[in-house]
Amino acid sequence: MSRYIGSVCRLCRRETAASKTGEKMKLFLKGDRCLTKKCAVERRGTAPGQKTSGKSRNKVSEFGRQLREKQKMRRYYGVHETQFENYFREAARVPGQTGKTFLQLLERRLDNVVYRLNLANSRAQARQLVTHRHFRVNGRLVNIPSYIVKPGDVVSVGERSKKSLVFEANAEVARNRRPPDWLEWNDQDWSGKVLDIPAREQIDTPVDEQLIVEFYSR
Ligand code: SF4
Repeated sequence: MSRYIGSVCRLCRRETAASKTGEKMKLFLKGDRCLTKKCAVERRGTAPGQKTSGKSRNKVSEFGRQLREKQKMRRYYGVHETQFENYFREAARVPGQTGKTFLQLLERRLDNVVYRLNLANSRAQARQLVTHRHFRVNGRLVNIPSYIVKPGDVVSVGERSKKSLVFEANAEVARNRRPPDWLEWNDQDWSGKVLDIPAREQIDTPVDEQLIVEFYSR
């Protein structure tokens, strides 16, 4: 399956240019580097391929708004279109608020949990570390980034992986940065426990999931 290999900063610039409020849409696709002044959205708020900022000549339709919101969320989690749509279909089958369930499913992906535990500095790095067999779930090796964790699961770093330089650096960050309340970091054995399914207010993803529900319900 192909993966986007262009500049990820272009994706943030695209969403920023599409923002109706002029808000800077930082998708944090480069981890801690996004916090520096080198962030492309901070330096220039223009859309890719556009030299100067200016108001869009075209009025954005309702469909356009829904589409942009969907693209933003998909890029935020780094999920392909087909897989993203499958998550939506799965969420729609569950009774309750589809948008919230949809977000919860994406949050419970193993690569996202690794990122939320601060064991990777971006979701892209988390995905790579998972596929490179560095993580265990309840003591068993899992190398599938889309694996959905459930309450009570314990995600841990493999014994051999703990000696690698990347994990020494990331574990230092994990030690000093609190994960969201639905996760619990254990510094003794470098593991994280899933305490609960995240509530909507515990998910800081800057999206209006209702627009995405409307997009797929057309
Ligand atoms: Fe987006 Fe990060 Fe690039 Fe800034 S540095 S534009 S937040 S990916």
